[in-house]
Amino acid sequence: MGGTSEANQIAKYLATIGAAAIYSYAGRTLSPREIPLPVHVGGFGGAAGLTCFLEDNNITHLVDATHPFAKQISENAAIACKNLVTVLIRFERKSWDEQEGDDWILSANIDAAVQWLGSQKFKQVFLATGMQSLNKFAALSETSLVARVVEQPPADSFGLANAAFEIARGPFIVDDEIALFEKHRIDLIVSKNSGGKGAYAKINAARTLGIPILMIERPVINAPVDFQYVSDLLNHLECLGV
Ligand code: NAP
Repeated sequence: MGGTSEANQIAKYLATIGAAAIYSYAGRTLSPREIPLPVHVGGFGGAAGLTCFLEDNNITHLVDATHPFAKQISENAAIACKNLVTVLIRFERKSWDEQEGDDWILSANIDAAVQWLGSQKFKQVFLATGMQSLNKFAALSETSLVARVVEQPPADSFGLANAAFEIARGPFIVDDEIALFEKHRIDLIVSKNSGGKGAYAKINAARTLGIPILMIERPVINAPVDFQYVSDLLNHLECLGV
C-alpha cells in the first residue's frame, strides 16, 4: 500500500532483492512517481474487495505504508488481513512535535480547521494540506488563500474563489519556503501533522518567520503501528526473507 515517499523506498528495496511484490496506490494524481514494481492503481472496493484481491494474488504479506491521514485504506487493510492469513505489517511515520519557537493551534480535522478559520481575521493563509480536501476551504469566501498543489488545479479551482496556487512537489527546503511565505505575505499556515522530513521545511520556515500554524491532528486509525522508521521495517523484511 503506497502513496508516500517511504512506500517508494520500500518498493525500491523489494525491487532490488527481486521480491514478488505489487505496489498499490489510489491514483489521485495524474503524474505519480515511477515505481520499480508491478502496480495496482485505484480502489479495491472496500475491505471485501481488498480481501478478494489478496486471496486471488496469493499475497502472504501486506505492507501498509500509506499516509498517516489515509485512515480508510489502512483500516480496510487491517480487516482484509484479519479475514485471511495474510500478515499485516503497518508503517506509520512519526508525527511532528511542537518545538520551542513554534506557534501551533491544534485542530482535530479539516472541518474544524475551516470552522475556526472562519472566525478569524487572517489576511493570507497558506494551505499545505494537499489537494484532496481543498474544496472544504471554499466556505472561506472572505479569506485570501494560497494553496500548494502537486499538479495543475482543476478548472473550478476546487471552488476556491480567492485562491492562488503554487504547483510544487516536495521535498522542500527551508530557504525556499521562507521566500515563498514572504512573497505571499503569509500570516497563517494550515498543515496536516504528516510527519517526515520532506514536508518539515515549512515548519522550520514558519518558526523563523514567526508565522503561526494551524496544525491538523492525525485521525485515529484502528490498526496497530509496527514500524515508525523505514530502516527498521526493511530489516524486518530482510529477517523474514521476503
Ligand atoms: P483513504 O481515505 O484512506 O482511502 C479512500 C479510498 O481510496 C480507499 O477506501 C480505497 O478505495 C482507495 N485507496 C486509498 N489508498 C489506496 C491504495 N494505496 N491503493 C488502492 N486504493 C487505495 O485514502 P486517502 O486519504 O484518500 O489517500 C489516498 C492515497 O493518497 C493514499 O495512498 C495515501 O497514501 C496518499 N496520500 C494521502 C494523503 C492524505 O492527506 N490523506 C496525503 C498524501 C498522500 P477502496 O475502498 O475502493 O479500496
